[in-house]
Amino acid sequence: MSILDPKPETAQRDDLRQIQLERLQATLNRAYRNVLLYREKFNKAGVLPEQVRSLEDLACFPRTTREDLLAHQPFGLFAVPLHDVVRLHPAAGAGGPVVVGYTHNDIAVWTRMAARALTSAGVTKEDVVQISLDYAQDAAGMGAQSAAELLGASVIPASGLAPKRQAELLKNYRVTVLIATPNQALHLAQTLGSEDPAPLSLRSAFLVAHAWTPDLHKEIEERLQIKTYASYGLSEMTEPGLATECGEHNGLHLSEDNFLAEILDPETGAPLAAGQAGELTLTTLTREATPLIRYRTGCLAILHPEPCACGRTLQRIELVSGRIDNIVTVEGVRLTLEQVQEVVNDLLPGAPCNLAVLQEDGAETLEVRIAIDDPSLFADQMKHMQALREHIKAHLFEHLGLWTVVRLVEQTREEK
Ligand SMILES: [Zn+2]
Repeated sequence: MSILDPKPETAQRDDLRQIQLERLQATLNRAYRNVLLYREKFNKAGVLPEQVRSLEDLACFPRTTREDLLAHQPFGLFAVPLHDVVRLHPAAGAGGPVVVGYTHNDIAVWTRMAARALTSAGVTKEDVVQISLDYAQDAAGMGAQSAAELLGASVIPASGLAPKRQAELLKNYRVTVLIATPNQALHLAQTLGSEDPAPLSLRSAFLVAHAWTPDLHKEIEERLQIKTYASYGLSEMTEPGLATECGEHNGLHLSEDNFLAEILDPETGAPLAAGQAGELTLTTLTREATPLIRYRTGCLAILHPEPCACGRTLQRIELVSGRIDNIVTVEGVRLTLEQVQEVVNDLLPGAPCNLAVLQEDGAETLEVRIAIDDPSLFADQMKHMQALREHIKAHLFEHLGLWTVVRLVEQTREEK
């Protein structure tokens, strides 16, 4: 498979690190000068952008969390005037959306980055590409469309269509590449049901997600008789294009000329040695409108620096299943236990809760278990329990933007 931009994608590590350093210094300077959040954080930590002489010096700078971003909505994170921002993508999540702004140049850089990603998944101008991603929910939809068009492929925007209609498009227009979330691809496969997939022209699926399981990709491959390519997405970061699988399927190549990755101890924030699993923390190197410095993704990952058989020298990310602190991610939405607890406290003050992510039929659901120290509630009629659960569920949806499974558990006893 070809490589769209051999210069950055197959660069010598030293050359790449030099580009990263120059871009990091420029990003830190712009962020410090133009964004109050960073100026305050850097001042508090006693660090200045000009102190950065090597990539390792970044470790002295404070990390950024989603909560930091929420505190500066809507436009407090912009490093350029609003009149230079040509697109806004609100990234959904707990506590409300975080808006990511793009300048003309940001869009151009992103499109190129996404086109590289599609190329690494084998997309060419000969392909008919169907995009199922929801354009309003997910910035990845527009990114994928611009990138596929840049490569000269024929694009069918199929955002928001029911799986049955998606299946018709797939068959009628001899679609060769599907761009979707893993769940959308699985629903499509289920809709096609027992139909023989052989007459389909579909060859591969480019699957955009924050998290997935290898089993899910394998099931999609078997049901549709295609190859899948994983694209790691994060709504606050640029997607697709951030990190993508190549034909070797041994990790996701990170777009290192645009992002600097660190693997940190989630507790202490200390850098971990190569090969160790820790929290993936990302710094944007080319973003003009919304630079992010040491942004905590909440994802556990290992970085693999060895060159890949595909020819790319860009490091590969291996995502490791697991949870960091009290952070969970469900369908790309990142939540902390504290955020959920706060919403639960509105209705049941002092009732402790814990979180689990349920995986069923390829879909992820957040389970919120709430321990209640009131035996009379459990002696009550089932319909009252059900009504309380529904009330909590609706309240959680209103505040988190996510449907959950609510379980009420009598403290120290089996759940009802
Ligand atoms: Zn590779």
